[in-house]
Amino acid sequence: MRTSQVLIPTLREDPGEAETASHKLMLRAGLIRKVAAGIYTYLPLGLRVIRKIEQIIREEMNRAGAQELLMPIAAPAELWQETGRWSFYGKELIRFKDRHEREFCLGPTHEEVITDLFRREVRSYRQLPISFYQIQTKFRDEIRPRFGLMRGREFIMKDAYSFDQDPASAILSYQKMYDAYDRIFTRCGLTFRAVEADTGLIGGSSSHEFMVLAETGENTIVYSDTGTYAANVEQAEVLPPTEVDTEAQRPLRKVQTPRCRTVEEVTKFLSVSPSHLVKTLLYSTGKETVAVLVRGDHEVNEIKVQRLLCVTELALATPAVVEQVTGAPVGFTGPVGLKQIRIIADHAIKVLRNVVVGGSQLDTHYVDANLERDFQVEQFADLRSARAGDPSPRKDGTLKSTKGIEVGHVFMLGTKYSAAMKASYLDAQGQECLAVMGCYGIGVGRTAASAIEQNHDTKGIIWPFPIAPFHVHLLPLTQSAQTVQVTEQLYAELQAAGLEVLWDDRDERAGVKFNDADLMGAPFQVVVGDKGLTEGVVEVKTRKDGLKIKLPPAQVAAYLTRM
Ligand code: ATP
Ligand code: MG
Repeated sequence: MRTSQVLIPTLREDPGEAETASHKLMLRAGLIRKVAAGIYTYLPLGLRVIRKIEQIIREEMNRAGAQELLMPIAAPAELWQETGRWSFYGKELIRFKDRHEREFCLGPTHEEVITDLFRREVRSYRQLPISFYQIQTKFRDEIRPRFGLMRGREFIMKDAYSFDQDPASAILSYQKMYDAYDRIFTRCGLTFRAVEADTGLIGGSSSHEFMVLAETGENTIVYSDTGTYAANVEQAEVLPPTEVDTEAQRPLRKVQTPRCRTVEEVTKFLSVSPSHLVKTLLYSTGKETVAVLVRGDHEVNEIKVQRLLCVTELALATPAVVEQVTGAPVGFTGPVGLKQIRIIADHAIKVLRNVVVGGSQLDTHYVDANLERDFQVEQFADLRSARAGDPSPRKDGTLKSTKGIEVGHVFMLGTKYSAAMKASYLDAQGQECLAVMGCYGIGVGRTAASAIEQNHDTKGIIWPFPIAPFHVHLLPLTQSAQTVQVTEQLYAELQAAGLEVLWDDRDERAGVKFNDADLMGAPFQVVVGDKGLTEGVVEVKTRKDGLKIKLPPAQVAAYLTRM
């Protein structure tokens, strides 16, 4: 393709609204343009990348035996009401009414629609296992759309669904998809890791997320330094402590802690370690206020609290509620004398002696507080987030932590949706049985953005070869007859060799062409200049390492094919 015939509006400066490398570079390299918050147009170059990722996904889905279909973006409310998600999904689900006042949503995911298809069209165990996939536009009214394609409101997703006769066979379908995901992200040239994950709004019994490792990732991953355990920190289990504090109990004392509200301020003032302070956090679930106790140096894992309390809503109590329940402002909440609400605690609290807790009074804390004697806990559970240095919950080493971008997610759904929607098949004995399901998503745009996060430098993108919009950027430096003739020849030869070539045929200065080529990130650049041609050579540059070699034009196609 010639640059003059394709819209590639490159930008010299970083656009102000972009924070991450991938967002900046996608805008600067002319891949995408914003239409509204979280809603983008894919320009020709961006679309080429999207299509390449889709093609890799399609090949691997087909290889895994999934059938491609295409469901509608709009779905009737009735289907979503059957599973209860019409109300449960909340504001991320965008809803509208048609001219007959019938309610619809734009699908953020398609369990309901595919399960409806299954129950209508699939009858017999002989048709199972069966799995379907589509590559389609999704809509989620995200609270904070950001980082360009990374978290959009409208975005392209591959979603797949499997239906099996029983859990044992469903696990095989899950494993097939897991393996397909491994191949997809490997083929896209990404450095990634599959981790155990929370099942979130989709629900189900087990799941893995495929995380591209990158500093800008919104997820924290913990993994065993010597073993195989890896999990999203949202999900990662924490083992109960094994060492018990055997210190003798000292009498409870109330002390003044003027203007000390945070763990840091209080422990510094009292010269104790944060691991000897117990934080008391009040949460509202919509139905009740609950106190959650964790060690001062630990963080509450709200997903674990939510799971324990079986609630979908959980938010820190407002200052007004804190005052009303404890009689003290935020920062001084403690479990001593806290009677009217439930108190739940992380396992680590159980083994502590002589701890510092809030005094339920302005500028006051208790020291040497002890469980049972001074405060009671209704239930102990794993309620804190894992962190680097914790023992691996599989007992296979010590945890380390890193950041990741979730590009794919595989869920074992069990019969959650088939039970809600009565999606059954007839077994060999003619009995009706519920299908056992799995669902599997990949964010196509997010995969493209992640590839840039992992592969860029100060000059621009460095595309992994399999998803590069073009393989070779052909850069003639002048309009001289000889340069034009050699460029034309190269253009034809490289394409004949199966390479995709972008020919910069603009009448621009060499510097401009070089900068744009580095920005757009094709894996190879071929520079044709009058000076080189007097010596009978052109220059071939590898974008990744900047390696330049001079070759006679006739050898370039063979060289690049080898590379
Ligand atoms: P997140 O936790 O990042 O919101 P999710 O758990 O909601 O993701 P899934 O419902 O599992 O995501 O969706 C499947 C895949 O779709 C994700 O792995 C991700 O790659 C992609 N995806 C999800 N939300 C978005 C979004 N807002 N923009 C772009 N891609 C997305
Ligand atoms: Mg989400």
